[in-house]
Amino acid sequence: MSSENTFDLIVIGSGPGGYVAAIRGAQLGLKTAIIEKDKTLGGTCLNVGCIPSKALLHSTEMYHFAGHGAAEHGIDLTNLSISIEQLMAKKDKTVAQLCNGVQFLMKSNKIKVFNGFGMLAGENKVRVKGAKDETELSGKHILIATGSSTIELPFLKFDGETVVSSDQAIAFDKVPEKLAVVGAGAIGLELGSVWARLGSKVEVIEFLPNIAPTFDKDVSKMAERLFKKQGLNFNLNTKVTGLKKSKGKNILTAEKDGKAVEFEADKVLVAVGRKPYTDRLGLETVGIETDEKGRIPVGEHFKTSVDGIYAIGDVIPGPMLAHKAEEEAVACVERIAGQAGHVNYEVIPNVIYTEPELASVGLTEAAAKEKGVEFNSGKFNFAGNGRAIASDGTDGFVKVTACKKTDRILGVQIIGKGASELIAAAVTHMEYGGSAEDLGRTIHAHPTMSEALKEAGLAVGGNAIHSA
Ligand code: FAD
Repeated sequence: MSSENTFDLIVIGSGPGGYVAAIRGAQLGLKTAIIEKDKTLGGTCLNVGCIPSKALLHSTEMYHFAGHGAAEHGIDLTNLSISIEQLMAKKDKTVAQLCNGVQFLMKSNKIKVFNGFGMLAGENKVRVKGAKDETELSGKHILIATGSSTIELPFLKFDGETVVSSDQAIAFDKVPEKLAVVGAGAIGLELGSVWARLGSKVEVIEFLPNIAPTFDKDVSKMAERLFKKQGLNFNLNTKVTGLKKSKGKNILTAEKDGKAVEFEADKVLVAVGRKPYTDRLGLETVGIETDEKGRIPVGEHFKTSVDGIYAIGDVIPGPMLAHKAEEEAVACVERIAGQAGHVNYEVIPNVIYTEPELASVGLTEAAAKEKGVEFNSGKFNFAGNGRAIASDGTDGFVKVTACKKTDRILGVQIIGKGASELIAAAVTHMEYGGSAEDLGRTIHAHPTMSEALKEAGLAVGGNAIHSA
């Protein structure tokens, strides 16, 4: 094989896992190639996930404020209107800017990009099937970062028109009058919020008794109450069973407490999770088997069962989050290069970017109880925070949970404006093994929302200054 097609590291997939792995590989002196089957680099996150959803959340939050909160500030915005075409164009521009940014980073790091479908083709070999030709590459190390795809419900098949996934719900060309959202996790709540702000009547249908079920119950309950005020209607403990047509209308059928319930819907967004993507990857050619959920099992340092082949990101077990994929990318490649890369799975932040935002890190109280760890929790409401009062951010609270014996922080839960940014300080404290008292004694600028984090740290010991 020509040296042109021989690499130290071949990465399959250019999402946050893949492209970050490629950059770290190049930084560490590895001759690196990356393969992407889609037209643009950046994977789910940049093209149809994190970035477009946040662009839509930002635009619609401004629109919602203009229509609902601006008048109180003396801002007159009568005759308010919104163009969905322009809204989508702005989102597309944001996505394009970031995808082009990844392309630029590949070039500046001298990473060879192959546009085509990557397939494992035996020991140290990868075949790239392009639009016109096929290329065989040889790699000392092969990293699978092929990510995930949407999950379809067997009784509610995607048709791209009425029954859609997030891929379509970030790109509707008009506001659906009635939108049913199946699943009250991050994607369902974020996209449900987007379309509710634009005027859709949104019914969220969730099988579990709480929305945002990965958070503590007090966070979920407050979120439910606040989102209801924004027009989202929640149907909990409700199991969707199918879709039928009646008098020309789409009727989503479901069951609650053994009784049939129905929801009329112009669009049905199915947001019940994602599945690992290993279609036609050729795992069988090298003898890699997937687990019961279709994920690629990995051992120490992200090694698969085959020497020289590694996997990271959504395609392996663990939370399906972009920053988890990125950290795994760096750790995996550093290990390949003989360094000591490591991922601390205890402190992966988790965020839902609604208004207010929900953010958490570490153990929930429920998980601490389940583990039999004795703990103290301290809570501070944003209603007692000056900056929150001055900037319409009083809804929500910060809760710090710390080990009863050592005071070491076990977890932090936040519901409030800007929670996605606030959680970073909690993550840092936890990364360094900080205690609730450490947090409470750390100086935070005044007036900032982050003072609520400090106060919650103090509240663990019953010493919060500004709580009534
Ligand atoms: P992916 O980003 O899925 O990338 C995999 C890439 O591999 C894709 O480009 C795919 O085309 C390519 N590929 C697959 N097979 C092949 C092959 N055989 N050959 C060549 N290329 C191949 N996460 C967050 O952390 N924060 C958020 O706010 C957030 N919001 C989200 C919103 C939505 C609507 C969705 C759908 C997801 C969101 N996520 C969010 C999840 C996040 O997008 C994923 O966790 C992340 O993209 C996973 O990264 P990855 O690199 O493992 O895979």
